Amino acid sequence: MNHPSWAERDRRALWHPCTPTRDLDDLPPIPIRSARGVWLEAYDGRRYLDAISSWWVNLFGHAHPVINAAIRDQLERLEHVMLAGFTHEPVIRLSERLAALTGLGHSYYASDGSAAVEIALKMSFHYWRNRGEHRRTRYICLANSYHGETLGALSVSDVGLYRQVYEPLLLQPLVAPSPDAYVRADGESAADVARRQMSVLEHLLEQHAGEVCAVIVEPLVQCAGGMRMHDPLYLRLLRAACDRHRVHLIADEIAVGFGRTGTMFACEQAGIRPDLLLLGKGLTGGYLPLSVCLVSDEIYNAFDSEHGSPAAFLHSHSYTGNALACAAANATLDLFESGDVLARNRELAAHLARATAPLADHAHVAEIRQTGMILAIEMARDGKTRTPYPAAERRGRRVYRYALEQGALLRPLGDVIYFMPPYVIEPDEIDQLARIAADGIAQATTD
Ligand SMILES: *Cc1c(COP(=O)(O)O)cnc(C)c1O
Repeated sequence: MNHPSWAERDRRALWHPCTPTRDLDDLPPIPIRSARGVWLEAYDGRRYLDAISSWWVNLFGHAHPVINAAIRDQLERLEHVMLAGFTHEPVIRLSERLAALTGLGHSYYASDGSAAVEIALKMSFHYWRNRGEHRRTRYICLANSYHGETLGALSVSDVGLYRQVYEPLLLQPLVAPSPDAYVRADGESAADVARRQMSVLEHLLEQHAGEVCAVIVEPLVQCAGGMRMHDPLYLRLLRAACDRHRVHLIADEIAVGFGRTGTMFACEQAGIRPDLLLLGKGLTGGYLPLSVCLVSDEIYNAFDSEHGSPAAFLHSHSYTGNALACAAANATLDLFESGDVLARNRELAAHLARATAPLADHAHVAEIRQTGMILAIEMARDGKTRTPYPAAERRGRRVYRYALEQGALLRPLGDVIYFMPPYVIEPDEIDQLARIAADGIAQATTD
């Protein structure tokens, strides 16, 4: 069913996310007809291996029979009911399961990840007001962090590309240096970087004692910031610092949660529990928009209030706790329970490492780094000195284009090529991806 006019109709009627309009001239969006497992199928019959889980949301492949069945089954009974004044089985079961998994007792739902970030920021601020601490109006975020696109979430993000234009509209957070191990000095270990950068954050907390509501971090991997990774030690030190200075720790695991980093949640690798935990993206296995802000009982209890009291958290979204989305999320958790997903992921992660290892010596590869099922290859003009290419050369985009021609969806972040595949990928498909990435990098770095 070839339909040549999809691209034209698309161009007339749509506005695509994160896409400068001129980019559509030479790379128009590819109309996808169907998808199964790790494969997307276009109307022209071409297939694309979804190596980045359709923007990090898909966990168990497209059209998974268990999740499909759960949504169908839910659809026959209840598609949605408002969550103020009402409740339903899927949302209760999901909340119980998330509480058991995270140790955080109460779930507050939204749809997109950014909305969950907004909830966390408002909740933390409001908590301190309810406790009579009205001077606490500031947040600390990390350099190179990304927490979403709505104004509050963008305020605590530090990726210039997304933030710059809107600067006059934004809250002014305190920005602490990133523990990013890529920028370690000669002879420094990732743990050394973590300690060094934590001492700066500690200093900020001292300087602004009593003014800070919360520190927000992306545990282990700053994903949108180029898949930059840090030592779990940083999170342990951060937890201790937040406790010492009495500020909330908000862990944004919207991208890294649900097994991406090798553990169910990234914070587990540091043995810490945040005060607020944000989940989204993979929460529904990549099917439906659902995000959640999980909070400690301590926070929940500070909102005990009656009608008219300013202590109540009067925040809502139309689709809060959508039943279909919760059914997909429950089915996703069923899949984690029905097999040893994390053990298989460890094997896949080892395979990813082996398949890409030969690239480490490439003159234009500065680093290959990996945390669990996230593997990133950083291209640079000079791999040894880590001198980047001028951004305007758009080397990463050349890899993107090459990969599409070869049947793979790799969507680099600048010059960082990365794999973040669905967990149902097979070893031979990983080999295929590694080959395409290697050839793509070779092509993109010769001129
Ligand atoms: C994607 C992302 C968000 C925003 O989620 P949306 O669903 O795109 O609004 C927030 N934080 C992190 C770490 C993310 O990767």
